[in-house]
Amino acid sequence: MNSQADDHDRSLAFAQIALGQIKALRQTATPRNYEIWYSYASGYNPSLNQAINEILTRSKNLTEEELERIYETYLSPARITDRIDNVGSRVSDEISQVMAMIDAAAGTASNYSESLAGMSEKISSAKDREGLRSIVESLVETTNEMQETNESLEQKLTASKQEINQLQVNLETVRTESLTDPMTGLANRKFFDDTLDNAISDSGAREEPLSLLMVDIDHFKTFNDTYGHLTGDQVLRLVASSLKQNVKGQDVAARYGGEEFVVVLPNTPLRSALTVADHIRRAVMSKELMKRSTGQHLGRITVSIGAATMHKGDTAQSFIGRADACLYSAKRNGRNRVVCETDPEMLADTPSKVA
Ligand code: GH3
Ligand code: MG
Ligand code: MG
Repeated sequence: MNSQADDHDRSLAFAQIALGQIKALRQTATPRNYEIWYSYASGYNPSLNQAINEILTRSKNLTEEELERIYETYLSPARITDRIDNVGSRVSDEISQVMAMIDAAAGTASNYSESLAGMSEKISSAKDREGLRSIVESLVETTNEMQETNESLEQKLTASKQEINQLQVNLETVRTESLTDPMTGLANRKFFDDTLDNAISDSGAREEPLSLLMVDIDHFKTFNDTYGHLTGDQVLRLVASSLKQNVKGQDVAARYGGEEFVVVLPNTPLRSALTVADHIRRAVMSKELMKRSTGQHLGRITVSIGAATMHKGDTAQSFIGRADACLYSAKRNGRNRVVCETDPEMLADTPSKVA
């Protein structure tokens, strides 16, 4: 069987499992529920599976609200902005509540001091033991009320503090997710853009070298066409893991888009950047690919890499442009190689100046 037919079969099997779950749990066959159970069957979103499994072990089925929450948390395309808005509005709710509590406490405290002042007047004009006794009793009563108000305020403040701490953790999770490429777990394009801008200004300010690698999988279209998109996706994850293994410290590896990756190497001269690039290239080609579902051997894949180092006056665009030109020189010169801007093939590619 060829691999496209294989992928088709696999998608159909996921679809059948999804419909089977909807039927078995007697849920409505809405597109939303179908999407949830299709993702569950494919296993591509492990956090979604874990959340569903936890509910199923507890209660054997999922309520409408739980399905809605699962969809919003793990699948809805707008989930990140929604979740940020949600956390933002919960933080402002908490803050308004705390402010209201503080206002109320201030009110109680001023009532208390007013009533103390009133009592001290009464004491000075008290005529007998009985009069004094009733003043002391109401003093004790007012003090007890004040104490109760303080205790409940303290409890509410402790609860708010916990809630705000939890919201902070949520916000951090959302922030990390919004900067991560979900397929490979590498930094995403947005994170790369920000990192490169910062690295360029830091490098200028500290007078430290800064290098950049652009990595592109060789003949990936043919690979996808031959073995199918799902297997292609596994290859992307494999290249991503080779990148992760070969960068460290303040280096940042990111998915630039499609089957292209970038590595930002702060405080790294071109020579060292070439070493990193060659380690990545060798790591990728050393891996023997195997299709998980069938055990079929798929050979090896290779990458081409362009390496550039920052020049005075570089912008992110000019810097990326130079690394990209080196990458395309690597492609033209046979692929599975690293080319840098000082290599003879690059110098040969540069149009010669007319004196
Ligand atoms: P070259 O060696 O010149 O880079 O050839 P290539 O085939 O790798 O380059 P080309 O730009 O022609 O094709 C890139 C292919 O990458 C096209 C597309 O099928 C594949 N691709 C891009 N993004 C993804 C993805 O997210 N998943 C999968 N499976 N394939 C992708
Ligand atoms: Mg490409
Ligand atoms: Mg390619």
